[in-house]
Amino acid sequence: MAVGGILAHRRGASFLAGVAGGLAVGMLPLLLLGVIVKLMLAWCPERPPCVCGKCNSEEYDYVGPMHKTEDNAYYYQCPHCGREYRSQGPKFDLKTAHGYSPYMQKSKWQRWKRSTQQSL
Ligand SMILES: [Zn+2]
Repeated sequence: MAVGGILAHRRGASFLAGVAGGLAVGMLPLLLLGVIVKLMLAWCPERPPCVCGKCNSEEYDYVGPMHKTEDNAYYYQCPHCGREYRSQGPKFDLKTAHGYSPYMQKSKWQRWKRSTQQSL
């Protein structure tokens, strides 16, 4: 009988549990979306790793520009080795003594690939 009483009590609370469950199910797509975005970022980070191999996408220091420019180029510096890069569209170029040389570029799968015209 005691068990029956507990079950009856639980059934009384099932409305609240339903609401809570509904909220949890409602939140699930958002949580999943968050996970998917995280996976996407891990799969195709905004910036490729530095030549030195110590710096990943999130670690680069942003050099500039402070305002959006017409050539859509953004400059970054590796905090570990000091190499400078220019990010422009799908390309990530390494600063050399003679200007910028192609380093990596995004493939059609949004993965970073070594640029073919490599001159390092
Ligand atoms: Zn570096």
